Amino acid sequence: MDSKEENIVTTTRSASLKTSQAPATQTKDLEFGGVPGVLLIMLGLPACLCLLLLMCKQKEPSLLNFPPPLPAWQDLWETRVFGVYILWFLMQALFYLLPVGKVVEGMPLADGRRLKYRLNGFCALLLTSAVIGAAVFWGADLYYVYGHFLQFALAAAAFSLGLSVYLAVRAAGAPPCALAPSSSGNAIYDFFIGRELNPRIGTFDLKYFCELRPGLIGWVVVNLAMLLAEMRLQNRAAPSLAMTLVNSFQLLYVVDALWNEEALLTTMDITHDGFGFMLAFGDLVWVPFIYSFQAFYLVGHPNEVSWPMASLIIALKLCGYVIFRRANSQKNAFRKNPADPKLAHLKTIHTSTGKDLLVSGWWGFVRHPNYLGDLLMALAWSLPCGFGHALPYFYVAYFTVLLVHREARDERHCRRRYGLAWEQYCRRVPYRILPRVY
Ligand code: NDP
Repeated sequence: MDSKEENIVTTTRSASLKTSQAPATQTKDLEFGGVPGVLLIMLGLPACLCLLLLMCKQKEPSLLNFPPPLPAWQDLWETRVFGVYILWFLMQALFYLLPVGKVVEGMPLADGRRLKYRLNGFCALLLTSAVIGAAVFWGADLYYVYGHFLQFALAAAAFSLGLSVYLAVRAAGAPPCALAPSSSGNAIYDFFIGRELNPRIGTFDLKYFCELRPGLIGWVVVNLAMLLAEMRLQNRAAPSLAMTLVNSFQLLYVVDALWNEEALLTTMDITHDGFGFMLAFGDLVWVPFIYSFQAFYLVGHPNEVSWPMASLIIALKLCGYVIFRRANSQKNAFRKNPADPKLAHLKTIHTSTGKDLLVSGWWGFVRHPNYLGDLLMALAWSLPCGFGHALPYFYVAYFTVLLVHREARDERHCRRRYGLAWEQYCRRVPYRILPRVY
């Protein structure tokens, strides 16, 4: 392995440029409703996952048919499925370790160090496609994923719980400089939010790996399995237009995330939150098994989409994508090099930390233009499922709650970090996500 990658480099930049402004000392104001809140979330999320998947399998997935009948134990757990899941995880870990792709530095940590990350997520996607293609060619049946979907989701949930316990145990001995700004010192809260910011085994960064690989690439494979299941169960020679739209839209989202992998390094997940149950469950379970919900729904509940309707949905998706991508790229380019001549036309506000804030361009439109783009895309993913049931719109509703809450968290961090400069930004850009509404 590249020896450069194994080292942690010490930055010469001034302390004022550090990303994690809250140093190793831990904050006491707990988010997510504190200990009772995170306990509720940790119990509620797996229950919600099971309920949604069981409801979606019903012939009539109306919210009035709640709760769905409880399945037998063998419909919930299968050791072979767990074995397949472990193989999948190990294959992704192997791809992550391949010495291909650029090595870049992350944002400065509280103690001034910068970690190195290898960017080979897109390569992992290509290799995975080759492996899945070869497996299907040699007779593997992806219908197995659809037929055992709940067992796969529960296998991933069990794995993420085991991983969270491992992370909590190893974090108990972590030095103060390794702790996440979001950690609190409370064992239950930290089990949820993650105590260590960047847990690594050698050069293997557990959080960075889980953020983009097993779950995100897994989501694409799940969607493909649903597309094939739809063709089989509905006796179709080709997938429906609705299924094609859902698959293409979400594939674009994943390809975009992997192609722009470096942008992950400036997100809250990497710079602020630790690695604990929240991200382990989110990345490994919620993303592949809930974000694929529309495709799962369409297998059992076909919906014919007309071409005029499809054109409107595609326009919505593209509109959301342009806002999302351009806003994220603009902020990322600015954070990487504020003196970039391509950004010279943008107005900024100076802050006492040394990092400036963009106040024109996308970030002068609303304070979180990237969230707006993401929400428009989420709506475009659900619309191909039609208006027969509310269930496929669960994702839009959940994602709105997530991003509104996330925006509030980020706002608190930024206000603490930038003080008066942030107040000034809020006065100049009064809306958070949706102009004139919120
Ligand atoms: P952002 O990428 O929006 O990052 C927020 C940070 O950006 C702030 O903490 C601040 O950090 C910086 N910032 C804020 N305002 C300005 C400004 N005016 N000028 C310059 N910098 C500014 O947040 P997230 O990490 O939440 O989201 C990243 C992307 O991931 C988004 O597109 C989001 O939609 C998406 N996402 C998707 C999820 C999913 O499940 N699909 C879940 C969560 C997020 P600093 O000043 O320290 O640089």
